[in-house]
Amino acid sequence: MADKIKKTIAEILPEIIDLRHKIHMRPELSFEEYETAALVCSVLDKHGIEYRSGIAGTGVLGIIKGEKSGAGKTLLIRADMDALPVFEKSGCGFASENDGVMHACGHDVHTSTLLCCAAALNKLRADFSGTVKLMFQPGEETTGGAEPMIKEGVLENPKVDSCVALHVEPSMKVGTAGFKPGPFYACPDEFDIIIKGRGGHAATPQKCADPIIAAAQIITAIENLPTRLISPLDPAAVSVCMVNGGAAYNIIPDSVHIGGSVRVFSDSDREIIENAIGKTARNICAIYGAECEYDYRRLFLPLINDKNTTELLKDSADNYLETVVLSEPTMAGEDFSYLTDAVKSSALFWLGCTDDGCEGYPLHSERFFASDKCIEYGAEIFCDYAVKFLN
Ligand SMILES: [Zn+2]
Ligand SMILES: [Zn+2]
Repeated sequence: MADKIKKTIAEILPEIIDLRHKIHMRPELSFEEYETAALVCSVLDKHGIEYRSGIAGTGVLGIIKGEKSGAGKTLLIRADMDALPVFEKSGCGFASENDGVMHACGHDVHTSTLLCCAAALNKLRADFSGTVKLMFQPGEETTGGAEPMIKEGVLENPKVDSCVALHVEPSMKVGTAGFKPGPFYACPDEFDIIIKGRGGHAATPQKCADPIIAAAQIITAIENLPTRLISPLDPAAVSVCMVNGGAAYNIIPDSVHIGGSVRVFSDSDREIIENAIGKTARNICAIYGAECEYDYRRLFLPLINDKNTTELLKDSADNYLETVVLSEPTMAGEDFSYLTDAVKSSALFWLGCTDDGCEGYPLHSERFFASDKCIEYGAEIFCDYAVKFLN
């Protein structure tokens, strides 16, 4: 089957590479992926693949039915379509024409790879049974498009039995894929603490409720919480990334705003940190006579890869790639987690995207660049897994 998959993908590839350049040149921000979604639909139309569009805004769901008789399982393969507010400086020949917006996270590659896989599986319909759903989602970089697409029913009719996805990874060369069973991405939660004190003269701090001293102690205390409240065996991070307050050398201000992010891998750790930050901030504020407003927002779920699915995907990768590695988990967030949470047999893997001799600038960098060459490998792994899983 591997040779047949390789040959089928090789035939489609030139069209897909052109398409990837088009998508890269016309990047669109989260939930504004109108042109990208239209391009996706035009390719599905061209290949006679049925689809629903306008799901959760700009989301598209393609559907391919296998023609072989069999168990009739359903697989969903997911790609995200959105770009980032970054001025591209990658120097590539098909750089963004949309100033200040760039595919700096490689979602152009994800979309093209899924279209390549779709066109190939459509030609290979006689070789599998059941259904393949192709999920093109909006908004991964902001509030997430996966959860709203689930709410609009993409996992039902027919019910999905497995979900897979990939993310390009610039620290790995083209021809490499990385797999990680279990916890893979953290939850990327956010919090705000507003310390409302009472300002006054720098020379008479005893007459004020100084929000600056409270802020200083809160920052030190909350960044230390993971080391004492979470097991040293569980990764956890509290990072304060914003501190705003004060405007003069001799005036104690009325208030200070602290904002930051919490990264953990389980709901129980989340609960502990969420409560502890609030308690710490309120108690320290109370010492200095300040009021405390605390807001904690749970964003994406942690992404936990299914062990068996990861193993099967890795086996598929072994058929096509030279190097298959075990990846470390990341403290970044990824809203594919809503699919791994909803459907047990699900996993995401990393696909190396950096050419030999290239620097491999990180995701979200203005110099990030993903090679066209990784598309073929991603599509091969998806197709191989699809045929194997559905039979
Ligand atoms: Zn990103
Ligand atoms: Zn991304």
